[in-house]
Amino acid sequence: MSRIDFEARRQAMVAQQIEARGITDPRVLAAMRAVPREDFVSPGWREQAYHDGPLPIEAEQTISQPYIVALMCEALLLKGDERVLEVGTGSGYAAAVLSRLAAEVYSVECIAELADLATKRLAAHRCTNVAVHAGDGSLGWPDAAPYDAIVVTAAGPDVPAALKAQLKIGGRLVMPVGERHGLQELLRLTRTGEHDERRERLLPVRFVPLTGQQGWPA
Ligand code: SAM
Repeated sequence: MSRIDFEARRQAMVAQQIEARGITDPRVLAAMRAVPREDFVSPGWREQAYHDGPLPIEAEQTISQPYIVALMCEALLLKGDERVLEVGTGSGYAAAVLSRLAAEVYSVECIAELADLATKRLAAHRCTNVAVHAGDGSLGWPDAAPYDAIVVTAAGPDVPAALKAQLKIGGRLVMPVGERHGLQELLRLTRTGEHDERRERLLPVRFVPLTGQQGWPA
């Protein structure tokens, strides 16, 4: 399939899967129209890149459904000057979308093979404001904290205390929380004070588990 065919599928994907489901932030829509998802899936899955669902990637992990990526990005309420932490780099696709929505993106992936592949893909797409680190993202990335926004793309039993501590007051954290392999809810937590937070339930979802010290046992 040619670049032009992929481009046409991408524009259709944004119209049918994302705008039609109520995503309205023009910056999020523009970022989703711009990032070629086919370059972030495993080579054998390029033709399916605009499928309306998650797809398998290396190391038995997944690239999230495009609609969910857009929804999580919109829920972060980004204006463009923020420092964002992503936990769960996976393919690097969401990090590439975030790179168009924020000033700086720090992304942590616990599987070194995925962190390496994502680093190469992000470099190939000139996402120069994204840094990827291989490690346990349930502990955040303290050296670059505090963050205006944090997005966790794997589901934990609750929001890790380490991540809340690395969020600025007024900052937003979007994360799936719930059972390891069952019911989960996408939450937006706003840090309203030193020890205060507000939680909003956005959507029932199904994500791979967040492992690590403040997630599920590996
Ligand atoms: N954002 C990714 C993308 O755009 O392709 C999708 C991520 S996938 C749904 C979830 C990822 O979280 C997996 O790659 C998994 O290895 C990673 N993960 C799980 N627990 C983690 C942890 N404690 N720290 C960092 N990454 C973790």
